[in-house]
Amino acid sequence: MIDKVKTRFAPSPTGDLHIGGIRTALFAWLFAKRHQGEFMLRIEDTDRRRTTDAATNVILEGMAWLGLDHARDVVYQSRRTAIYETTIQRLLDEGQAYHCYCSKEELEAMRADAVSKGEKPRYNGKCRDGVQPPQLPPLDDASSVAHATREFLDVPEDQPKSVVRFKNPPDGEVVIDDLIQGRVVIDNRELDDLIIARSDDSPTYNLTVVADDADMGITHVIRGDDHLNNTPRQVNIFKALGLTPPKYAHVPLILGPDGGKLSKRQGAASVLEYKNQGFLPEALLNYLVRLGWSHGDQEIFTLDEMIELFDIERVNKSAAALNPEKLAWLNQHYLRESAPEKIAGLLEAKLKELGVDVVGPPGLVELAKVQKERVKTIREMAEQSRLFYINFAAFDEAAAKKHLRPVVLEAMQHVKESLSRLEKWEKPAIHDVINSSAEKHAMKFGKIAQPLRVAVTGNTVSPSIDITLQLLGRDKVLSRLALALEYIGRRLSAV
Ligand code: GLU
Repeated sequence: MIDKVKTRFAPSPTGDLHIGGIRTALFAWLFAKRHQGEFMLRIEDTDRRRTTDAATNVILEGMAWLGLDHARDVVYQSRRTAIYETTIQRLLDEGQAYHCYCSKEELEAMRADAVSKGEKPRYNGKCRDGVQPPQLPPLDDASSVAHATREFLDVPEDQPKSVVRFKNPPDGEVVIDDLIQGRVVIDNRELDDLIIARSDDSPTYNLTVVADDADMGITHVIRGDDHLNNTPRQVNIFKALGLTPPKYAHVPLILGPDGGKLSKRQGAASVLEYKNQGFLPEALLNYLVRLGWSHGDQEIFTLDEMIELFDIERVNKSAAALNPEKLAWLNQHYLRESAPEKIAGLLEAKLKELGVDVVGPPGLVELAKVQKERVKTIREMAEQSRLFYINFAAFDEAAAKKHLRPVVLEAMQHVKESLSRLEKWEKPAIHDVINSSAEKHAMKFGKIAQPLRVAVTGNTVSPSIDITLQLLGRDKVLSRLALALEYIGRRLSAV
């Protein structure tokens, strides 16, 4: 009987959580769900200088927005110092770790020595077998130099400055059967004794990860493959603690659409930027699950299908390139599938963000029903919906010049009059009015529809003209038509 699956997502809040991180989180989340396990969120905020609250908030908000829910409370590494101290002390007590007093100069000399021999620079194990702390100048000689040296080095009065290093096994190999990368074998001689506690006693990444993965009972570590080189070190620490390491799955990177490093503009920006642009969470998740993973030629996956079908072992080993068109296509799909009421809420928020005073007509649900068939994002939808609510004072110059010409004056006047008398303000009746005005003036439908569009929207882009008019409502249509007629009138008198 295998343990209950427990996975985690462990971002460092030192920069904005971006799409690559989210994909890793999604894979870990899906894996846990698929195996009726637990997915946990751990914020790796031990690097006090680089950690920011803003980045932590992006993580929390981004995960909540996408519905990647976690079992138990969020784990903050900054609040778990005691666990790390205990782990380090245990390793020291059991002879699995040691204090290292080597100075910067000594370490540099070691490095230079290794490089000159054509070897990998690594710690040479000088303090490994128990070195006495070097003697600092005695304090009782009243020499100000001694005190100043200690102060400068931030050394406690009674103890020379040291770091703690893990005693990596000197030989043998570490074998990792990575669920994505396959078998990875590392010779222990490649690994040196890594620092697990800095001179200020703060624990380092490899130590905190092991202490936490062990304490949280993580069974599967699913993370970016940039950590693959840390894994043998972590496995060795697990073993030193007498624990079985978790299983590992290292997810390949995401590349830009051109196959190069992902830039901010392409997707390395905060995940909330996708929210801001008006992507739906289900579209983004569907998009991300297909980046490096497939199930036949299926493109659309509901969340339930993802949970049922996602198989970490079938994730591609090589990096996947972003494809913004596909994300847009998926978003369009999910917009169409969504209930108008839901889209109306998102549209309203976005319009308000754009500073639009949303006073109907049209009703937002009615508008969303039409617009969700036409656009790729909520932002695009809002941009194309402003015209329904704002009181525009001027028409787009080029559009007006091209379409609001004296030749359409009579037909437009006719449309306006007929519309003012129309009994039922509904699309078919509106359509008939435009049609018969066009016929009466021997014009094609389109020849009058486009000037009408410019007249009532100020520009040339809107849903079909009859729906646009229906949505705008009679009052707005008539007053905007009056403005357009004045405009044409002014052109006429200027001739
Ligand atoms: N905190 C690490 C990072 O953000 C991830 C650590 C891990 O998953 O083991 O890259």
